[in-house]
Amino acid sequence: MVARRPGRLPPGKTVVLFVAVAGVSVVALVWMGARLLTQERTLEARRLQERREAAADRVVAALEQVLLAEERRLANPRVANPSATDDLLVVVAGPAGIRIWPEKAVLFYPVMPAARDAPSHLYSHAERLEFIERDHTRAIAILRLQTGSPSPSVRAGAELRLARNLRKAGRPDEALEVFHRLSESTGTVSGLPAGLVGRSARCLLLEELGRRDKLRQEARELRQALASGQWTLDRDAYLHYAGQAARWLNQERPTDDGRQALAEGVCWLWENVGRSGQVEAGESQSVTSSERDSIGRRSVRFQGTPVTVLWRTSGGEMTALVAGPRYQQRRWFDPVFNGSDFGSVRFSVHDHGTGPIYGAPLAAGLPTTLRSASATALPWDISVAIGDSHSALSGFAQRRRFMIFGLALVVLFVIAASYFAGRAVSRELAAATLQTDFVSAVSHEFRTPLTSMKQFTEMLVDDDDLPTEERRAYYRAQERATRRLSRLVESLLDFGRMEAGARPYRSEPLDAAELVQTVVEEFRQEGGCNSFSIECAVPEGAVPIDGDREALAQALWNLLDNAVKYSGDSRIVRVEVDDIGKLVAIRVHDQGLGIAPAERRRIFDKFERGSSAAAAGVKGTGIGLAMVRHIVDAHGGKVTVDSRPGAGSTFTIELPRGRMNRCRES
Ligand code: ADP
Repeated sequence: MVARRPGRLPPGKTVVLFVAVAGVSVVALVWMGARLLTQERTLEARRLQERREAAADRVVAALEQVLLAEERRLANPRVANPSATDDLLVVVAGPAGIRIWPEKAVLFYPVMPAARDAPSHLYSHAERLEFIERDHTRAIAILRLQTGSPSPSVRAGAELRLARNLRKAGRPDEALEVFHRLSESTGTVSGLPAGLVGRSARCLLLEELGRRDKLRQEARELRQALASGQWTLDRDAYLHYAGQAARWLNQERPTDDGRQALAEGVCWLWENVGRSGQVEAGESQSVTSSERDSIGRRSVRFQGTPVTVLWRTSGGEMTALVAGPRYQQRRWFDPVFNGSDFGSVRFSVHDHGTGPIYGAPLAAGLPTTLRSASATALPWDISVAIGDSHSALSGFAQRRRFMIFGLALVVLFVIAASYFAGRAVSRELAAATLQTDFVSAVSHEFRTPLTSMKQFTEMLVDDDDLPTEERRAYYRAQERATRRLSRLVESLLDFGRMEAGARPYRSEPLDAAELVQTVVEEFRQEGGCNSFSIECAVPEGAVPIDGDREALAQALWNLLDNAVKYSGDSRIVRVEVDDIGKLVAIRVHDQGLGIAPAERRRIFDKFERGSSAAAAGVKGTGIGLAMVRHIVDAHGGKVTVDSRPGAGSTFTIELPRGRMNRCRES
């Protein structure tokens, strides 16, 4: 492992630096993306709001036109003349009293006309017989005479009392008969229409007699008669008799078609507007045009039914329209809301705080524009929303997802590009470092034999009188240095050829045992390892392999050279040949420095050196094992290492077994 040069970043940190630079660009990108998204969201919301505002203005203007047209009708209410099914009443109230169109459509009036009852003293004799003397027979006789009176009211008063006495006298059927006659009478009794009093009294008697079927039938008729508006009643009287009829019909509620709400609207007008034209209490939509003349608009609710009242007072007379929900929908709202194309805009017309009048309530959470009654001249609040604003926003959400996805892709790309660029740069740096180290290591390897050759040559030249023995030793040392130099040059050239793919391998049948023994022997003699014990264990017979003798010898030499170089204090190296079926294993054991697990794969790469070698100060070029791997690969085998740091290493070359006969022949 190469020591780091001061001032140079280690390769891992180069990558981190690149990724950090990329991180800054990524943060800037994300920030810009977030800004863009916020801006787009604001624009989208503003665009939707403008659409809502425009739609609200159009609707308010259109409804204003509709109400103005209705108010023009108030100038001549008789022309308006609504039909009974219109859900609309036209009211005229003045000094002459109150008139309502369509006639008979109103269930009750705010005031009753003056009663035209017969004077009560006409019946004082019969009543004394009835209540004091309890002589019903004589009372009946007197009252029968009075029922023949030409005055409807006198007749009605007599019939009511006659039926009462008949009931008390235990003659209920006759009493029912008389009540029936009373119900067809046109007079008034106790300020009420005699017809109503007669029908109601019959029902009371039928209830008392327990005649349920007849009671239900008559109660239904009474309810129909009340609904037909045939009697002029005030609110209390109507509610009393309608309530009684409902009770006899087992609480079935009268179906008044919203007409009770219209009648309530008339009463509200009478009580709150009167003939002054000014609403006396509460919030008002009155628009006063002068001291005397005024117009007003108001939405009021009766038993949950929304009624809109438009009125105009002029010269002491008030004219008004009381419009029920069906009329409002058919004549006002439908033409405005369905008449124009509002696209996905949704509307809701409602009265403040009570609920919707037209249109479904708008979904909660939807952005809404409100035109309140107090801000317009209309009697209602109008809410406007864009129906598809959720989908508009979901379109926005989709765009946002798309943008985030795109951004994430760009971010990934930037990070990946930075990572790979950083890694490439750091690899280049590492390669440059390795090459520099290689050059200095090769220089060193050359210098050592050259120095010793120079020294011995100088000694031989300087001293002609050297004894022969010494002179020979010097020559042998020179020869060793020369061989070492030439081996080094050869191995460098070989490595260059291998790298270039130009090293040819000549395959021939070999005996691995013989090859190993020969190389070990040569190494013992030439390797400069006199102090080492190099053991060699081979099987008895021949171990056939096919290969290039010179190349395999070179690989084994390199392993032996390393075993010696990295033996530390140990002096034992052992070489084994193992014939294991289809494979032949050549192992080189040493008991030296060992190799860290993390480095065991890398040391077979060119120029790579182990940390323990560098720590022990052992010089080397880092190409020995690369050559071994190259040669073994070329022979279809593999080279592996097993090692314990501090305890030694075993390098194993495994080669395919060759054919025995060919080996023997050779
Ligand atoms: P070098 O010229 O450095 O020996 P090699 O390619 O032969 O180059 O070996 C690569 C590295 O493998 C060595 O630098 C050394 O760290 C390690 N190595 C090789 N053989 C041994 C061994 N027998 N014992 C311990 N380390 C070894």
